[in-house]
Amino acid sequence: MSAASDIDTLRRGACPSLPEPMPTGDGLLARLQPAAPLTLDQLAGLARLASVLGNGILEVTARGKLQLRGLSPETAGQLEAGVAALGIALPDGFPVEISALAGRDPSGLVDPRPLAEGVGQGAAGLVPHLAPKASVVIDAGGRLSLAALKADIAATAIPGGWRIDLAGQPAGVVETARAADAILRLLTLLAEAGPTARMAGLVAGKGLATLAETAGLSPLTTEAARVSVDPVGIHELIDGTHALGIGLAFGQMRAEALSALVAAARAAGVADVEPAAGRALLLTGLAPEAARALQSEATRLGFLTDPADPLRRVSACAGQPACASARIETHALARALAPLIGEGELHVSGCIKGCAHPARTRLTVVGLDAGAGLVVEGTPRDVPRRVLPLAGLRAGVAHWLEKGD
Ligand code: SF4
Repeated sequence: MSAASDIDTLRRGACPSLPEPMPTGDGLLARLQPAAPLTLDQLAGLARLASVLGNGILEVTARGKLQLRGLSPETAGQLEAGVAALGIALPDGFPVEISALAGRDPSGLVDPRPLAEGVGQGAAGLVPHLAPKASVVIDAGGRLSLAALKADIAATAIPGGWRIDLAGQPAGVVETARAADAILRLLTLLAEAGPTARMAGLVAGKGLATLAETAGLSPLTTEAARVSVDPVGIHELIDGTHALGIGLAFGQMRAEALSALVAAARAAGVADVEPAAGRALLLTGLAPEAARALQSEATRLGFLTDPADPLRRVSACAGQPACASARIETHALARALAPLIGEGELHVSGCIKGCAHPARTRLTVVGLDAGAGLVVEGTPRDVPRRVLPLAGLRAGVAHWLEKGD
């Protein structure tokens, strides 16, 4: 990718992909969204590619997408072929996001894949006309809810149909047979609004009621309470086997740790692996005792296996030294502060860009030229309540958390 296209990509807020990786402080970053669960051979192959072509760091994002970091312009060109050689299928239409364990989670109301397939294929021709970050989320309505994900269009299964939310606002319901058509009509409206248009702007301009009517949605009569669980833990599947969910501290894992996990997973009898929203991996097809044994091994390898682990509530970007924009070393600071944050969430950001967590958190520690800013109930871009010197930062933040001043 040329310098000019780098700038163009960043300006448009495009998402990194295999053919178009994104420049970051530690090289190019490539993102992929596998269209199906990964075999252990495929996961081991990705670990090899991360070591050989990148800097050995793989990530699972908050939206459940895989990323490889530290690629060079030369090696990035080899990654797409490497992924294809592993037989990893990628969406060939519009990339719809679906809940993890689709069709296998007994708490899911439906299998979301047919609707996702219909929308993905139906919207393929719209892709060049849609904003790069335009998103459709299809949630099976089970315990592994995607309700926390922002989406231009979110479809959540309800008995007999789907509830449609537009830019986070409930818009109405549609019966199953008409759901794909309704979503495609909404995506067409978004595409007609221009290649940078997002649903929040369309809702503000046209009104929720007009959009709902155009899509043929019926009024929403009840708002069912959603119960969402952390993917970290052991989950029984529809076929009686179990899935082990493990978390990645700060969404990252080293290729060596992943290779060791794959070896342990083989021995345990894992069938396949799904990256999941919430920076997690789900390893499926396990007997209960094998799931517990693999959970212990994953803990030993440094993965997060307890949903109550404070690191599950901490977001931190790559920080120093991985990112050239970073003013602070984020991971060490986040690990030191994690036990202190109680029930709240902590975001440690190397600079005001806030790559790891764009939303508000109870406490954000952000690297600034003048030191580390403490933002309460905000984002790294907000005005900090205090700015602490970098020397003695851990003690300073700990004191602030304890005393609140
Ligand atoms: S938020 Fe973190 S990863 Fe993103 S640019 Fe800033 S320092 Fe780098």
